[in-house]
Amino acid sequence: MSDLHLKTVAELAAMLKNKDVSAVEVATRFLARMGGNPHNAFLDINSEVTLAQAQASDAKIAAGTAGPLEGVPIAHKDIFVTQGFATTAGSKMLHNYQSPFDATVVKNVRQAGMVTVGKLNCDEFAMGSANENSAYGAVTNPWNATHIPGGSSGGSAAAVAARLTPAATGTDTGGSIRQPAAFCGITGIKPTYGRASRYGMVAFASSLDQAGPMARSAEDCALLLTAMCGPDLDRDSTSLNVANEDFSRLLTLPAGDKPLATAGKDGGPLRIGVPENWLAIDQASPLGQVDGCAPPVRMAIQNALHAYEQLGAVLLPIALPHTQLSIPVYYIVCAAEASSNLSRFDGVKFGHRAKEFSDLADMYQRTRSEGFGDEVKRRIMIGSYVLSHGYYDAYYLQAQKIRRMIADGFQKAFAQCDLIAGPVAPTTAWKLGDKTDDPVANYLADIFTLPASLAGLPCMSIPVGFGEGSHMPVGMQLIGNYLQEAQLLNVAHRFQSVHPQHHTAKPEGV
Ligand code: GLN
Repeated sequence: MSDLHLKTVAELAAMLKNKDVSAVEVATRFLARMGGNPHNAFLDINSEVTLAQAQASDAKIAAGTAGPLEGVPIAHKDIFVTQGFATTAGSKMLHNYQSPFDATVVKNVRQAGMVTVGKLNCDEFAMGSANENSAYGAVTNPWNATHIPGGSSGGSAAAVAARLTPAATGTDTGGSIRQPAAFCGITGIKPTYGRASRYGMVAFASSLDQAGPMARSAEDCALLLTAMCGPDLDRDSTSLNVANEDFSRLLTLPAGDKPLATAGKDGGPLRIGVPENWLAIDQASPLGQVDGCAPPVRMAIQNALHAYEQLGAVLLPIALPHTQLSIPVYYIVCAAEASSNLSRFDGVKFGHRAKEFSDLADMYQRTRSEGFGDEVKRRIMIGSYVLSHGYYDAYYLQAQKIRRMIADGFQKAFAQCDLIAGPVAPTTAWKLGDKTDDPVANYLADIFTLPASLAGLPCMSIPVGFGEGSHMPVGMQLIGNYLQEAQLLNVAHRFQSVHPQHHTAKPEGV
């Protein structure tokens, strides 16, 4: 079967169940594609472990005890601790670190029958927007290898886009599922904060970190999210105590020509709120950045919005007035939490320890100077500063207050609309190296993903076209109210059913 690597998660699951193909055959195909590590997407591959898992899947299929995704390959962002593979979080600090246990998300997808095909490159400790902060080298974009894949889940997005794996996990603290998904032309969803367990996810900013699937379609993401999520109350104190759902359940409902004409609250048309300032062009803001998006991005989003109208949805202009403040607020809150979380990397408990040192303080200092990269150090310093006596009230406390205003702003919007649509990023993927010397330029490009992260809302990215010139993919962001993942996925799926050209497009040579 020469096109096995082009099959989706849903297709592979069905083929495996019908015994049209074996799990070992599927795993072997993807392992072969991963050979030579295209795009530098993988940080660890262990074919022995993968093939043993695939054999176990074949035995379960034969015995009739298969899980819902038995034998389907998945690769994990190197933020999830995974038995049988190294877990580095893209850092020298955790070089070759072997975890004695699986993250809950890893365990959950294994229980659904999925086979682990490797660990994916990412920005160091998930800090970045371009995957250029990995201690193991940048990942390149399968659509054009001179461009970045987005970050921090850049390895995940590149591997799915290049069909090196049909599915991947990602983590999203401030956009790291949505933005690389958008830049690589794939689909990704970050669920409501607390839906997926953070147990075994190397911590960056605990009040924001959330896991989610990255795959080619909303249909696949729904299957994966169902397998990944669920309460984990004993292990994650912020795990939501709500029963897990079948996130595919709305996708299979019969739909006429205008499936969204009755998909809104009370059975009326789906009301899509469009933040007016997000689609503006080159509007100078008080913070000096551009609040709006590049014309080709705007055009692709507007075409998709028009397609939604034809599916029966109604568009409503809405205001999200605190959008610009989400950048300073996020970069204060995430740095503060990172400075605390990363204090555990001290040369005693985990990972790297400096070889030469004079005393304990010197050992800490040398270990951390050697183990962490520049961006991680920058965040630890900013975080320590904003939490320090005398500055806490001025920065951290203010940021927390504005974070609440941002969340309240969304609730005001959701009083008018069922979900919100807009761009994922102001531009398409930029060229490697373009923003490496300017961390703030990277931060500013996160403007549209940060608000939903700060509010803890479920949100996703779907491919809606390509930019002019560079011909790089454009993603549209859909944001739902708390726990509305099933509806989000349904709305994404309706678009993908009618306009499959966007999510089925693949990079040249794949
Ligand atoms: N780009 C953002 C940052 O660097 C988001 C990263 C993420 O979501 N993990 O913090």
